[in-house]
Amino acid sequence: MREILLATGNAGKAREMSEILSGANDEVSRNVCWRHLREFTGWPEAVEEGQTLLENARSKALHYARLSGLWTIADDSGLEVDALGGEPGVRSARYAGEPRSDQANNALLVERLAGVPDERRTARFRCAVVLADGRRILASAEGAVEGRIIDDPRGVNGFGYDPHFWVTSVGMTAAEMSSEQKHAVSHRGQALRKLAAYLAAILSAEPTR
Ligand code: IMP
Repeated sequence: MREILLATGNAGKAREMSEILSGANDEVSRNVCWRHLREFTGWPEAVEEGQTLLENARSKALHYARLSGLWTIADDSGLEVDALGGEPGVRSARYAGEPRSDQANNALLVERLAGVPDERRTARFRCAVVLADGRRILASAEGAVEGRIIDDPRGVNGFGYDPHFWVTSVGMTAAEMSSEQKHAVSHRGQALRKLAAYLAAILSAEPTR
C-alpha cells in the first residue's frame, strides 16, 4: 500500500478529495491508503504567495511532502468572477480577510456585485492539483467549471461559495447538488480524475509492487 497525504486543512475540500479519488480509478483505490492533515499537529502552514493556483498547489504539495515524508496531493482552488476582473481568484479563501469565513466571503461577493445584471455575472471555479514527493513534482492537473453568481443563497450542501454559484449546465447551485452530482461536473472532480489517471500509471510502473 502506498500512503498518500491529502494536504488540505479545509474540511470541505478534504471530504471532496477523498470521495473523488476513491471513486476515480480502481488501481488507485486498491493500492493507496489516504492520510489526512488533521492526523498531524504542529506543522507550519504552507506559504501561499504564488500568482497562480498551480504555483500555490505546487508549493503546498512540496511543503507537506517534506514535512510528512509521504507522497502528497495538494489542491489550490478559487472562484474567478468576470465582472470583478477575476477576483477573488487566488485570494478566494481569505477574500473578506482573517479569520477565514465562508459567510463573510459570500456577503462581500454579493455586495461587490450589487447592481451587476444577471448576464454579466459569469464566473468559474478553477482547481489545480499537484502530486509531489519530498524532492519533486510527480504530476499535476487542472479543472474548471462555468457558472454565474446569484444574490440569494440556494442549497445547503458543499462549502465555500457553493450556495451562490449557479452551474449553468446543470440548472442548480453547487450547494443544491448531491456530492456525486457536484463531483461529476466540478473543477475539483475534473482535476482529480486526471491526476488519479497519472497516479495509476505511476503506481503500476513502480518496481516494488
Ligand atoms: P485554498 O485553495 O485553500 O486557497 O482556498 C480555496 C477557496 O476557494 C475555498 O476556501 C473556498 O472559499 C473557495 N472554493 C474552492 N473550491 C470551492 C468549491 O468547490 N466550492 C465552493 N468554494 C470553493
